[in-house]
Amino acid sequence: MDYLETGILEIDDIAVPPEERLVKGPVAVIECVQNIPCNPCVDACPKGAITIQGSINNVPKIDFEKCNGCSICIANCPGLAIFLVDKSFEKNRATVGMPYEFTPLPQPGEKVILLNRAGEACGEGEVIKVRNAKAQDRTPIVFMAMDPELTMEVRFFRRRTNER
Ligand code: SF4
Ligand code: SF4
Repeated sequence: MDYLETGILEIDDIAVPPEERLVKGPVAVIECVQNIPCNPCVDACPKGAITIQGSINNVPKIDFEKCNGCSICIANCPGLAIFLVDKSFEKNRATVGMPYEFTPLPQPGEKVILLNRAGEACGEGEVIKVRNAKAQDRTPIVFMAMDPELTMEVRFFRRRTNER
């Protein structure tokens, strides 16, 4: 529970999909730990993979086997607390999809600096796709390719254009 003091989640604070599920294809990772009255993620999921037991103030739980990686929940989360991890992307690269509400949007092929939950640089990534459908209501999802070892660490990125 150190995050109550630091504001930064540790890996032990979240439910991590098992490796067998991660290598099968994209799966959502929910990093929502605060007891607040919120549940759009539950209503948004077409597979019924996300549930909140009892009070709406409880945190959501995800059934990784029910999740098909559609990414719909990501844009529906007002807390920007859901990510999509895919270790089936390439032999030596995996992807993380993350909500990104800044403009201009990055473009596929752009190289970026990967940031961990503390905002520290932890590697280099490549934008492979930006999903920005009207139904996402101005919460685009940027998909980033990276070293598979970084997928449970990287949660944001810095653009090299910001360094000029
Ligand atoms: S990625 Fe799709 S299937 Fe998985 S939890 Fe989110 S909305 Fe449900
Ligand atoms: S929509 Fe986001 S912030 Fe709200 S309960 Fe779901 S994961 Fe948490």
